[in-house]
Order: sequence, then structure tokens, then C-alpha cells
Amino acid sequence: MEPDFDVIVAGGGVCGLIAAREIASSNLRVYVLEEDFEIGIPEKCAGLISVKALSYLGLFPSRKIVNNEIKRALIHSPLGSKVEVEATNQRVIVLNRREFDRELAKIAERNGALIDLGQKVLSVENEDGLVKVKTAKYERSARILVDARGLSSLKPEHGILQAAQYDIQGSWFEKDRIEVYLNNEISPGFFKWLIPLGHDTARLGVAGYSINPFEQLDKFVKDHKAKVMKKVASPIFIGGASKKFVHNSILYVGDAAGQTKPTTGGGIFTGGTGAVLAGRAVSESLINNDLSALRNYEVNWKRIFGKEFTIMSQARKIYERMDNGRIDKMVKVLSSSKILDKLSNKADFDYHSIGISQILSIIKEHPSLALDLIKSGFCAMFNMFKS
Ligand SMILES: Cc1cc2nc3c(=O)[nH]c(=O)nc-3n(C[C@H](O)[C@H](O)[C@H](O)COP(=O)(O)OP(=O)(O)OC[C@H]3O[C@@H](n4cnc5c(N)ncnc54)[C@H](O)[C@@H]3O)c2cc1C
Repeated sequence: MEPDFDVIVAGGGVCGLIAAREIASSNLRVYVLEEDFEIGIPEKCAGLISVKALSYLGLFPSRKIVNNEIKRALIHSPLGSKVEVEATNQRVIVLNRREFDRELAKIAERNGALIDLGQKVLSVENEDGLVKVKTAKYERSARILVDARGLSSLKPEHGILQAAQYDIQGSWFEKDRIEVYLNNEISPGFFKWLIPLGHDTARLGVAGYSINPFEQLDKFVKDHKAKVMKKVASPIFIGGASKKFVHNSILYVGDAAGQTKPTTGGGIFTGGTGAVLAGRAVSESLINNDLSALRNYEVNWKRIFGKEFTIMSQARKIYERMDNGRIDKMVKVLSSSKILDKLSNKADFDYHSIGISQILSIIKEHPSLALDLIKSGFCAMFNMFKS
């Protein structure tokens, strides 16, 4: 039976749109189904990405999609210590996620993809060698399905943090400096963040295990006499990548495959790379009529990020076991360390293992802190870098 399309993409978020762009560029018939009535909203993401990662995903930092450029990060310990890390070399920008997603949709359409809005995928079935997708209005078939429905498709049993983010107006922060507030008592496993969008506007967010994020953000806003312009809530996934991304002729990409960094939950680069690789594997497979080529997607993604994700997950485990006293000690050690400059210049926003290894080498020089952390898995972590 002849299918309606070569490929159906379920979900028109960043990863679905990148996959659609890649596949449509090979002259294959691509159909994107997005349940929302507009691309790019609701805007749930903080939008931090490096210029290097953006260009890897095939986009340039135009004024339209970039809200701000970040040069420094100020990290607050729960007990009031602070450390400032220089980040100019990492060229980190804050995306306007709405415009970014719309730009991706335009490129996908220009390449020939059809995008259908307001179409929720209700069921997916494999039948007669085709994938059949049902919405409330119709059924469509394709040779391959790319599932990019985000966390609604992953349905994780662990690794979910409650999170919310406000757009605020205030006057105490600096335009080119993000702020991170660590506190394992009130935001266990994560932190509060402040990401400036301009001189007096910022994204303020918090995430953590089993927290009420609105309560915390409301208190912060009140204490800082800020004005709230927008509120959104959306969970963050830090549980690690799925074991398999490819199931017969269905490929999972982005959040749907757990491709968010286990440290910060950032997923535009790691999931976007998944979408690029999935798109290439799908094109290769359909052009050569060889479904086994789909596996290249998983193999190539794991070659780039496999070890990186293991190291990030291990670092997360250590952080989650640290109490506020230890976090404070670590921030103090970092702020007084001679190699803070090295950390500032060499750390990589896209590959956290580089910064993690530098932090470990600083800690190693401070036996009291190292001893504190041994119980938390520090040795296992150190051995991972040796191997
Ligand atoms: C608070 C927060 C802050 C973040 N900050 C950053 C950051 O600073 N940097 C970074 O890199 N990452 C960040 N992330 C992560 C990043 O936003 C995600 O990893 C990324 O958006 C994932 O893209 P995706 O396309 O895989 O999934 P999504 O963006 O979730 O897209 C999935 C799409 O599928 C659609 N959909 C769902 N179900 C169906 C259905 N049944 N039928 C049809 N369509 C459907 C949805 O409407 C949506 O459009 C943040 C996430 C959160 C929650």
C-alpha cells in the first residue's frame, strides 16, 4: 500500500522541526502534526544556548531570535558565599524561543515540509509495514514516524523536577550576568536561576524534586520588589537518555528520547543534535530503502553524548547528596582557587564534563572537601575521567 507521506513527525517543537527540515531537504514528503494552534508557544524554556551549538543546528544568532548575550555567571551558595565565573569565551546567548521555533518552522516549510497545527496525535499503530497515526479528524500513514512529542511521549518514571519560570521586571541584576542560587533544602537537586533579557527584564525560574515552584518564585519576587509579567510551569527532565531511540520504524528525538542534559536539563543542543542525526538516518534509510540505516542515529548520538551523559549523571548524584554546608564549602573553595580563570576559560557550555573535570581537580587539592565528598561518590567520578 502506498503511504500518504514518507515521514510523519509528531510534535512541532524544536526537535520535531529540525528533524522535519533535515528530512524534507532530501526531497522526501514530510508531514508535521502539532497539537498547539501556534508554533513556539507556550514559551516554557529559558533559552540558553551557545553560538557554537546554534550554528551546529544550522542557525545564526540573528537579532530576531536572540534576546541577550551572557558574559558571566554569578553562583550563590545557600549560606551566602558567591563565586563569579567568566563566560565570555563560551559565547552564550538567550534565545527568544518563540521566534526561534518559528524560524525553524519557516525553514522546514521552505524545504517542503507540511505543518498542520491544532492536530493532536491520539494513537500510533504499525500496520502492513506502515505507521498509521490518528488524530481527532483523520488517519494518516507514512513509512517512518519521528516522535518528537517531548516529555508527553517519554512518560518518565523518575528524573522529573517540578519547575516554573516567570518573566519579571526588576533593577538589581546585571544585563550580561546570569545568576544561579544553589540550595539543596528548598530546591533539592536543582537551583533557582535568573537570566537577564535586557537591562531591567529577566527570566526567573526554579526547579527541584517535589517542590512548589510558584511559592518560591513569589517569595523571591516579593523580596526583590520585582514585577511579574508572565508565569509558566513545565517539568524539567534530568533522568538521562533512553536506552533505545529507534523501535522498528519509529524514531524518538529530543525530550521524547530523554536527550536533556542530566546536569541542567538543557535540551536544545543535545536534543537538536538528535533531531539532525535522526533526520539524516531517516533520509539515508528511505533513499536506499534500508530500514537498518535508522540505527545510525542512535549509534552516532551515543558516540557524541554517551560518556558525556554518564559523567553528568554521576556529577548530579554527587550534587544531590550534598547538604547546604558542603555546597557552601565548595563555592568558597572555587572562589579562592587559583585555577578559577582556567575554569572560566576552558569550561564548555555544551560539554559539561570539561568543567566537571576541572572542578574535581580543584576539589582534589582541598583534602577536607574531598573527604566530605568521598561518601557522595567522588572517587567513582574521578575514576571515570581516568578511564
Ligand atoms: C523551565 C525550562 C527551562 C529550560 N531551559 C533551557 C535552556 O535554557 N536551554 C536549553 O537548551 N534547554 C532548556 N530547556 C529544555 C528545552 O526546552 C527542551 O529540551 C526542548 O524544548 C525540547 O524540545 P522537543 O522538541 O524535544 O520537545 P518540546 O519542546 O516539548 O516539543 C514537543 C512538541 O510536541 C507537541 N505535542 C505534544 N504531544 C503532542 C501530540 N499528542 N500530538 C501533537 N503534538 C504534540 C507539543 O505541543 C510541543 O510543541 C528548558 C526546559 C524547561 C522546562
